[in-house]
Amino acid sequence: MSTRRVTIFGATGSIGQNTIDLIRRAPTDFTVVALTGARNISQLAKDARELGAELAVTAEPELLSELRAALAGSGVEAAAGSEALIDAAARPADWFMSAIVGAAGLYPGLEALKHGTTLALANKESLVTAGPLLLETARRYGAQILPVDSEHSAVFQALVGEDLSAVERVIITASGGAFRDWPLETIASATVAQAANHPNWNMGTRITIDSASMFNKAMELIETKEFFGIESSAIETIVHPESLIHALVGFNDGALMAHVGPPDMRHAIGYALNYPNRKELPVERLDLAKIGQFTFCEACVIRYPALALARSVMEQGGLAGAAFNAAKEQALDGFIDGQIGFTDMANTVEHVLDQLGGTADLSEMITLENIVQTDQIARRIARDYIAQHGH
Ligand code: NDP
Repeated sequence: MSTRRVTIFGATGSIGQNTIDLIRRAPTDFTVVALTGARNISQLAKDARELGAELAVTAEPELLSELRAALAGSGVEAAAGSEALIDAAARPADWFMSAIVGAAGLYPGLEALKHGTTLALANKESLVTAGPLLLETARRYGAQILPVDSEHSAVFQALVGEDLSAVERVIITASGGAFRDWPLETIASATVAQAANHPNWNMGTRITIDSASMFNKAMELIETKEFFGIESSAIETIVHPESLIHALVGFNDGALMAHVGPPDMRHAIGYALNYPNRKELPVERLDLAKIGQFTFCEACVIRYPALALARSVMEQGGLAGAAFNAAKEQALDGFIDGQIGFTDMANTVEHVLDQLGGTADLSEMITLENIVQTDQIARRIARDYIAQHGH
């Protein structure tokens, strides 16, 4: 079997490192074209050398000389900056991992689709801000997008061989995050360290805080609507503290197909990496008798106002996702920097959506230009709100 040529955007991050872990275990199956990172130059250079990548790119232009020095004598090319990320995407590969964090992940992903091969999509912002554009680009170039988020991978796997018109509902599970059991009145004073401590998953800091606020789940609901083309009224969320059932798909004959697995991103990454085949993966095999039970409870919108905001975004459509994402990123920065409290994040996003909602701005066509413009307007409104309402 020929080797699969792969490029990993966000190689130094949590998803990127898990992807590299799987590639390292099957070295004859894969050839690495390009690895990209931002500030973690030593990790980027170490992996690029070890995997024999053709190219290593840092998003940070001022770190190019450091990257060059770290790669000296290895034969790996070094490059830097956002244009270099697009150039890396323009190099042919069979499989691209989109695992840059934030809206910056959209651009290399769009470029990579032009090869008509496979884009494994972890970056949530791509579908939330530009779902229709991403799917249309994939269609135009005959590329396939495979979801990497565990919930969407679960839905994707439950739908294999099924007729989408028989789907009645999709249930996305949520762990409930760090504050699932906190008394409601104490959540407003939660610290960054407390929010960044996830009960089940080991992930990057930003996504872990987004789990505590359920902004992460809100993004996933919007992604579900965009990727699978399912109406927002047919998408549900339920709190499932064990994080073992990742999603369920309900069909019109009453059957519910659940995807069950350990909370280890290497399952969803490995499924996408080997698709359409399944290969042995180094993830824990669940001992159901030992686990004993799966528990569920309602995802309360008073505890998790981000879920109600996601509904509003799904119903508005258009550029609402771009506004939501930008406001959320700005609010998260404000919380991490100590400018606002934990619950102020949802207030900030709600304010931005209220300010922009129902305006012609949000119903404009989803083009890259309009997304960038909406992103900037939403960030400005969010910053003003944070300045007025912050500590
Ligand atoms: P991390 O923060 O761990 O890693 C982010 C990666 O992006 C790093 O390689 C980082 O480089 C790079 N990066 C940061 N800023 C930029 C930028 N402006 N331009 C280019 N590259 C940049 O994130 P995760 O791996 O946790 O998540 C990646 C994406 O996948 C996110 O969108 C997240 O929501 C999504 N996701 C993550 C899951 C998880 O389990 N972690 C699960 C499902 C989805 P460096 O570290 O060198 O600075």
